[in-house]
Amino acid sequence: MILILFGPPGAGKGTQAQRIEKAHGLVQLSTGDMLRAAVSAGTEMGKLAKSKMDAGALVSDDIVIGIINDRIQEDDCKDGFILDGFPRTVAQAEALDEMLTQQTLKLDAVIEIKVDDAALVERIAGRYTCANCNEGYHDTNLKPKVEGVCDNCGSTEFKRRPDDNAETVAKRLKEYYAQTAPVLPYYADKGVLRSVDGMQAIDDVSAQIASILAV
Ligand code: AMP
Repeated sequence: MILILFGPPGAGKGTQAQRIEKAHGLVQLSTGDMLRAAVSAGTEMGKLAKSKMDAGALVSDDIVIGIINDRIQEDDCKDGFILDGFPRTVAQAEALDEMLTQQTLKLDAVIEIKVDDAALVERIAGRYTCANCNEGYHDTNLKPKVEGVCDNCGSTEFKRRPDDNAETVAKRLKEYYAQTAPVLPYYADKGVLRSVDGMQAIDDVSAQIASILAV
């Protein structure tokens, strides 16, 4: 199964992708995570991406298309994958179509998670992840069961993203509406677009997604 989780920053794409990964054995492919890893490793690509990411702007299509093209050919993707944060422009969506055609793969669904802007800002301001396994948490909505200990791996180290500050979030939302939202009609025309109400509790959003995947 090949899925795209679509939505603005803070909609819950990463959280839901992790849940689908566990439930369906699909690999989560987050371009944001891959770019952050490249930035941390100090690679040439990471250096090119860093200034854009820090400013809340999109990294160039060539870079992210190249990353995804390489990644989906790896062995662990052969049973399917969930794209989280890609495509973010119509050019990326078109490039993805070409990649899938070349590998005789088919996109099963694009699931849009709809969330109001005010809620996005609140969610982003409170979110953090386990520094070891990347499990996502939130200051008020999703705390670890034992305070300060990751539910998933037991680590006591957590981190927050440098681009999760108010100024950069405003820029990221602007980019979403200018460059990424126009991808929705592209998939609606193909008949693969489904939407879920991302304002509901995390478990309820997961249930909506599960019912789409069960069809
Ligand atoms: P995310 O973790 O998905 O919120 O992505 C963090 C940042 O990485 C974004 O604000 C962009 O700067 C960059 N990025 C991630 N995915 C893409 C993409 N598909 N196209 C362009 N830039 C991206």
